Amino acid sequence: MATLFDRDAAAISTMAHLRFHPQAVVGGRGSRLTADDGRHLLDFSASWGAASLGHAHPAVRAAVDRALSDQAGASYLSSANLPAVELAERLLARVPPRARGRVWLGHSGSDAMETVARMVTAATGRPRILAFRGAYHGGTVGSMAVSGHPVQTVPRAPGLDLLPYPDAYRDGGPEAASAAALAHLEDRLAGPVPPSEVAALLIEPIQSDGGMLVPPPDYFRAVEALCRRHGILLVCDEVKVGLGRSGRFNAFDHLGIEPDVVVFGKGLGGGLPLSAVVGPADLMNHAAAFAFQTVHGNPVCAAAAVAVLDTIDAEDLPAHAARIGDVLTAGLREIAARSSSVGDVRGRGLALGVEIVSDRASRAPDKRATAKIVYRAFELGLVLYYVGVHSNVLELTPPLTLTEAEAREGLALLGQAIADVEAGQVPDEAVAPFAGW
Ligand SMILES: *Cc1c(COP(=O)(O)O)cnc(C)c1O
Repeated sequence: MATLFDRDAAAISTMAHLRFHPQAVVGGRGSRLTADDGRHLLDFSASWGAASLGHAHPAVRAAVDRALSDQAGASYLSSANLPAVELAERLLARVPPRARGRVWLGHSGSDAMETVARMVTAATGRPRILAFRGAYHGGTVGSMAVSGHPVQTVPRAPGLDLLPYPDAYRDGGPEAASAAALAHLEDRLAGPVPPSEVAALLIEPIQSDGGMLVPPPDYFRAVEALCRRHGILLVCDEVKVGLGRSGRFNAFDHLGIEPDVVVFGKGLGGGLPLSAVVGPADLMNHAAAFAFQTVHGNPVCAAAAVAVLDTIDAEDLPAHAARIGDVLTAGLREIAARSSSVGDVRGRGLALGVEIVSDRASRAPDKRATAKIVYRAFELGLVLYYVGVHSNVLELTPPLTLTEAEAREGLALLGQAIADVEAGQVPDEAVAPFAGW
C-alpha cells in the first residue's frame, strides 16, 4: 500500500515542496505530531513557527468552534466583524505609540509584506526600499521583490537596495560586523541611494531564514537613528520571531527600537492562515480599496488569533519561551562542545539556530552535513529543518508551549543525530531525494 508520503508525491506539486525527509503526519497534539506510521514525533519546528501554541491547542479549538458555529460572514472587506475588530484592538495595544494607528489583516507574511511594500512607496511618494541580503519577506512576487534571500528567483523591485545583515560569526565578531554594516548603509545613503528617495527600511529583528542571525547590540539603534534623520520608515517584520517567541512579546524590544510599522504572521493564527500589518493611521489609511483579498479578515482565523494572543498573556508564554530557550541554548552549547561540526549556537528564546560547518577553524558551511542531521533527527523522532543563505543552519522554532522535559528530550535526539552524522552513519543517498533549499 502506498504511504501517505508517496500519495503526496503523486498528487501534490513539487513547486510547493520544501522537503527534508519523508515526513507525513496524520495528527498532533501539543508539541507532538503523529506520523502515518504511528510514530510520535517531537516537533521542534512547529511548521516553521506557525503552530505557535503547538497542535490542537484547546483555546484555539474552542475559539474556532465558536466562530464557525455562528459565523459572522467570511470577510472584513465589506462588513465589520467582531473577531477581526477584537484582534485589531489587541494588536494596537501591543505596538509602540508611533505604530498605533490602524491594522490590516491578511493571510500570510507574504501578502502582508507585499502590501507594506506597496503602501510605503504609494503613501510617501518615495520610490525606493531598503532591505537586507538574506532577508526572507515572502513567497509572492511583491514580497520576493523586496527580499534578499538567494532561494528567490524573481526580479527585485526597481530601486531596491540590499544591505549586508551584520553576521557576528562570519564578520569578525559583533562590533566589527556592526561597524561594517553601518558604514555600508551610510555610504549608500551618502551616494547612490539618496535618502529622500527611500520610503522604508525593512528589518528582521533576528534574520531567521537568512541563518538565525542575531544582530549585534546597538546596531539597530544606530540604524533607527539614521532612518529618523532621513524620514525613512522603519518596518519590522516580526513574522517568524515575534509574538513571544524571542522571550519578549515583540522581538524588536530586544533591540531598543520603535518601528513605525510592525508585521505579524506565522504564529498569529496558531496554525490558521493569518497575518497583520500595524502602523500609523496616515499610512494605513492613505487610500481605500488599496489591498484586499476576498476572505481577508475572516472571523474564524481572527478568532483563532484572539485566542492565541490571550493564551500568550494568560500563560506568560514570552517568559516561558525565554526560560525554555535558556535550557535549549545551554544544551546546544554542550552538544557543540563535544562535536566537531557545530560552529555556532545563537538565537533568542525559542528562535534558535545551530550553524553547521565542515571545519570549525575555516568555518566553511556544510550544507550536506546539515541536511543529514535534519534527516537523522527525523529518523530518531525529532522534527526540525534548516535555513540560511548557505543552507547550513539548523532552525529550532518549537511551540511556545514546549515543556522543559520535551526540550531535554529533543536535545538528546539532536545530540545523537549530530554524533551519528559526524560518525558517517548517514549515507549521501539518504538525503539525495530531498532538495531542501
Ligand atoms: C515566513 C516569513 C514570511 C512569509 O510568511 P508566509 O506566511 O510564508 O507568507 C515573511 N517574513 C518572515 C520573516 C518570515 O519568516
